[in-house]
Amino acid sequence: MSEHTKSAALYDRAKQVMPGGCSRNTILRKPHPIYAAKGEGCFVTDIEGVKRIDFANNVASLIHGHAHPAIVQAVNAQLANGSAFTLGTEIEVAYAEQMVARSPNFEKIRFVNSGTEAVMSCIKAARAQTGRAKIAKVEGSYHGLYDYAEVSQTAKPASWGDADAPNSVPVAKGTPQSALNDVVVIPFNDPERAIAILDAHKADIAGILIDLLPHRIGVIPALPDFVEALRNWATANGALMIIDEVITFRTNFGGAQEGYNIKSDLTAMGKMIGGGFPVGAIAGRAEVMDVMDPTQGPAAFPHYGTFNANPITMTAGSMAMQMFDQPAVAELNALADKARSALAEAIRIADVPACVTGRGSMFRIHMKKQAPTSYRNAFVGPQEQACISALLDHMFDNGLIMIETCSGLLSTAMTQAEIDQLADTVLNGLRKIKPLLLA
Ligand code: PMP
Repeated sequence: MSEHTKSAALYDRAKQVMPGGCSRNTILRKPHPIYAAKGEGCFVTDIEGVKRIDFANNVASLIHGHAHPAIVQAVNAQLANGSAFTLGTEIEVAYAEQMVARSPNFEKIRFVNSGTEAVMSCIKAARAQTGRAKIAKVEGSYHGLYDYAEVSQTAKPASWGDADAPNSVPVAKGTPQSALNDVVVIPFNDPERAIAILDAHKADIAGILIDLLPHRIGVIPALPDFVEALRNWATANGALMIIDEVITFRTNFGGAQEGYNIKSDLTAMGKMIGGGFPVGAIAGRAEVMDVMDPTQGPAAFPHYGTFNANPITMTAGSMAMQMFDQPAVAELNALADKARSALAEAIRIADVPACVTGRGSMFRIHMKKQAPTSYRNAFVGPQEQACISALLDHMFDNGLIMIETCSGLLSTAMTQAEIDQLADTVLNGLRKIKPLLLA
């Protein structure tokens, strides 16, 4: 019988009514998912009563951990006054003002309900602004489920094609060929190749979509030269620069883009800015954002969404972002620096071919001696995957929840004690899996 009897039984029920037994594949674990009962600060207790430190933070969407008292109180007050209206609310306006004040690149903003929707809306806004159809994106980069945004996001080596012209690889079966044709795939951190590819589609590219610290490309930062080359190319060729900050907005007060010497045209956000509730946002230059404005004649990009800017999300998000001010960002990033150093030290002591990457409050452990530099060498082969799975199982069994790629994110609810536990657990785990790692 499974050790997790209640979760096993729940999964048996779940499989009857949901494909795969869930609504998002992320929760799946072998032999069955574990179900959460309660979250508090940086801890999650499952329905068996086991408490763990949460380094997954609902895949980067919780910046203050679970059930922060200030957010709970604010949301409870709003809930009693209604959760959704066919009218605007003051909190929507206040939160928009608050977010616009966080970056000089945000002149206007609109809220949606997921990162997928935010990226989709950026792409549609870029098309509407330029009158062009194509989008350029980085090979391997994850941007949610919109057909155009998901192209090549998890391409396997056999489908990559030439590095000088990576293939547009579909994710979902049945993706229209026309969608693939309208996505131009460029290699990460390779300005020369990227520009050559872009040049071949000069007249058709509406926007270049990029994540500055892409999770699926090993949590390695985009090089300033690469980002500047793309920005300059976009400016010279009438295309827009779209930054996906759905995860990376937590990196600085004004997002990861604050660390680069560029101006973006559009930014997609999500996750943490909802304060624990479903959210997305599109922010950018007023002239571009105004493609959604229907008050001066028909909008070039008519934009709707039943739950957009609902007052629950606005209340929670606004409270979360108020608490994630400049000092809080600096403090969290400093704690994450310590975490990355402690993990590097654990790897050194265990004397295994592994490494740690990351920036801001994010880290990733790789079963590679050298940090990857591109999607192609960040790719995780079967042997590495076996080691990662073994390490993740060890961590989970010893009280740590991580993201399935062996990535983790800190929350402001964490302290040095959680970092010490992380490093100790990883050290023991690496020692345990060493034979597998060296096999
Ligand atoms: N962009 C990035 C960089 C993401 O990491 C994600 C989600 N992991 C998305 C977009 C899509 O966000 P959502 O899951 O809220 O649709």
